[in-house]
Amino acid sequence: MSYELCKKVRELEPYEPISGEYKIRLDANESCFDLPDEVSDELKDIISKTTFNRYPDPTAKELIKAFSAYYSINPDNVTATNGSDEMLYLLASAMLEKGSRVVVVEPDFSMYAFYSFLSENEILTYKKNDELMIETDDLIKFVNDNKADMLIFSNPCNPAGRGMSADDARRLVSSCSDCLVVLDEAYMDFWDQSILTEAHTYDNLIVLKTASKAVGSAALRLGFAVANERITRALRSVKPPYNVNTVSQLFGTCIYGHKQLLEERRDKIISSTRELYDSFKKLIANYQLPMSVYEPCANFVFLETEKAEDMFRFLLEKSIAVRYFGRYGALRITAGTEEENKQLMIAVEAFVIENILKRNR
Ligand SMILES: *Cc1c(COP(=O)(O)O)cnc(C)c1O
Repeated sequence: MSYELCKKVRELEPYEPISGEYKIRLDANESCFDLPDEVSDELKDIISKTTFNRYPDPTAKELIKAFSAYYSINPDNVTATNGSDEMLYLLASAMLEKGSRVVVVEPDFSMYAFYSFLSENEILTYKKNDELMIETDDLIKFVNDNKADMLIFSNPCNPAGRGMSADDARRLVSSCSDCLVVLDEAYMDFWDQSILTEAHTYDNLIVLKTASKAVGSAALRLGFAVANERITRALRSVKPPYNVNTVSQLFGTCIYGHKQLLEERRDKIISSTRELYDSFKKLIANYQLPMSVYEPCANFVFLETEKAEDMFRFLLEKSIAVRYFGRYGALRITAGTEEENKQLMIAVEAFVIENILKRNR
């Protein structure tokens, strides 16, 4: 007799986004700006006052207060987690019974289906249309016909960067009243169709937020779930008690307090994304390329091309990391600083000249 791993984990591999060191990292949708010196100085001060021998505050009270003030919501509606990822796992496991029916959309953030798989839920996939958009009425019907227990999707969506209007989101939540709707607004700081401030008015809605993108604090692992008090009570009850460490709580509290600074950076990222999108549009038009980009609602550009894999490898050789999606024939490219975007576009143009124009002659 010998111990065997259970079947569902036997074939899994550890998550490894991209290995190696690259000069320009545009692969993970992080903010291209590190914290400014004035904030890092405050953080150093905080470290010197931290009590390391004590457990963190299990209610993350100050952190939730700062987060709630930043978004003008009530702290009673907020649960803090160790990144949104922890909440995604809790939603798939603790908040559902084994065999529950979970609707995911495709393409979307792959972790939703992954945690549902681990939790032995039944996964039902709704395919987006050719423009990679959700047809709201179709999705409502899909959820209700399948008697789904949970629907989860990102808005704006990762990886395509497209979004659903706030009015459609409201209609969806109201029309799927027997189903828990989880709306992941990880990228909504970059767009204006949020329903975050109304989350508590719905019976069946959880809106997710993260500090990993617009707030530029991916290193801290801070995620937030916003919902009415009944759902919030359940979320707070199922989370591990000390899930958000003391350093992240204190740093997060300080960082969310710098509202003006965060908003300035968010605006810079929005313009940077717009510039990147315009550069691709121009390049495609100039060379009449068989490629397309969608108008971005988040902090990245989604480029569809048959040459996605070749282009991905070419960029890596130039020490530029982007995200390659083989199954969609696409690259997802995070907006960088002005200089990073410039280097990227020089490399992309070189690729186009060497690998598309010359070969097609
Ligand atoms: C990046 C991202 C998150 C953030 O996850 P964290 O665990 O908070 O870093 C959540 N949802 C989507 C769709 C994302 O792309």
